Amino acid sequence: MTRAALREAAVLPAEAYDPECRRCPRLARHLDEVREEHPTYFCRPVAPFGDPRASLVIVGLAPGKHGANATGRPFTGDYAGILLYATLFKYGFASAPESISAGDGLRLIDARITNAVKCLPPGNKPLPVEVSNCNAYLGAELGTLPEGAALLALGRVAHEASLRALGGRPKNHPFAHGAEHNLSRNVRLFDSYHCSRYNTNTRRLTTAMFERVFESISKHLARRHVAQAV
Ligand code: SF4
Repeated sequence: MTRAALREAAVLPAEAYDPECRRCPRLARHLDEVREEHPTYFCRPVAPFGDPRASLVIVGLAPGKHGANATGRPFTGDYAGILLYATLFKYGFASAPESISAGDGLRLIDARITNAVKCLPPGNKPLPVEVSNCNAYLGAELGTLPEGAALLALGRVAHEASLRALGGRPKNHPFAHGAEHNLSRNVRLFDSYHCSRYNTNTRRLTTAMFERVFESISKHLARRHVAQAV
């Protein structure tokens, strides 16, 4: 991990991230195997990336094998980050439209990206117990959300993990692309299909669909800024 990434991780509560965590034996073993196969890969729990006091927090599923798991930065190094970072840039949440590596100088602006599961799962499919194990980290991280913040869940697993991390009940807030859920302290949870290669190639998620979600997020945060200014 770069020094900048370590600094950003360090400002969040210590409970939000443990770089040595091996609480999930299956995932810890898998990381050991992938490290043997790819000695230059990061192969550890991937820290949240971005502003520790962000108004917008994006929650993905888990690191991709040749993406975040290789580079140590969420959604960086593989296809899944292309649409995400381009959209973050378009809506003023990133200093550049591409995330190439953990040392490329990219900054997120009032935004942060994290994952429901911090370690690479085999086949991109974490077990429910692994999502549950990692939820304490997500809970500590989301505990820092400012009043009126926006939370963007990429996919159903991230949606349910985010709700649980905040003490909410998924059955009261069903996942649907484009749905918005009002939570306590005027925090709003926005849902989107995950911006994976599969979803974008099959056009389950198009650029226009993703941008509509960001339009809604921008409106919500603009209202919050107006309210704070009054
Ligand atoms: S997924 Fe989360 S809880 Fe499980 S080993 Fe990785 S960091 Fe720890």
